[in-house]
Amino acid sequence: MTPSEIKTMQARISAAGFPLVADGDWGPKSRRACQEYLRSLMLSPNPWPEPAEASLTKFYGDAGDEDYLVRLPVSGLGVQYDGAAVAGIRCHKRVAHSLGKVIAVIAASPHRGVLAYYAGCYNFRPMRGSSRISTHARGIAIDLAPDWNGNSTPWPEKATMPLEVMEMFAREGWLSAGAFWGRDAMHFQATR
Ligand SMILES: [Zn+2]
Repeated sequence: MTPSEIKTMQARISAAGFPLVADGDWGPKSRRACQEYLRSLMLSPNPWPEPAEASLTKFYGDAGDEDYLVRLPVSGLGVQYDGAAVAGIRCHKRVAHSLGKVIAVIAASPHRGVLAYYAGCYNFRPMRGSSRISTHARGIAIDLAPDWNGNSTPWPEKATMPLEVMEMFAREGWLSAGAFWGRDAMHFQATR
């Protein structure tokens, strides 16, 4: 994002009751206010488990167990993978309803463009550069617009994922990697 886009975002967070200086400079105070703001939008209590492996197994079952997967229909919502229309997304049955709601809300918003860059949900693989299992291995995470929101691209200084999209996920209790980890802004997951 440009400094002026960051400034607009800071003003939005500030106006929502999480005061910070809207100067276009994204520091620790902005990061904290942004996270508090997104948490304030989340369902209470948050329906999703903690991201620790044991909580995930208890709530979702074993990683890679494809018996838990369902196909969420997304036809007509503008979801595309590599330029081709996507009819369904394979995800964990416990997140399907929630994910469907978020996608419908994004599709009806001015930010629907990110759906044209859908980059995967269920994928049984370890996290890059780590032995930890990715939340994708349970079908409880989705990636959008990866070309501008990579794993080593700082958000929001370089990455482009709009705060508004993170708000839409937050209203369903989902975590946005960009706001909470400061990178990998393509990634959203159904954990606390
Ligand atoms: Zn991801």
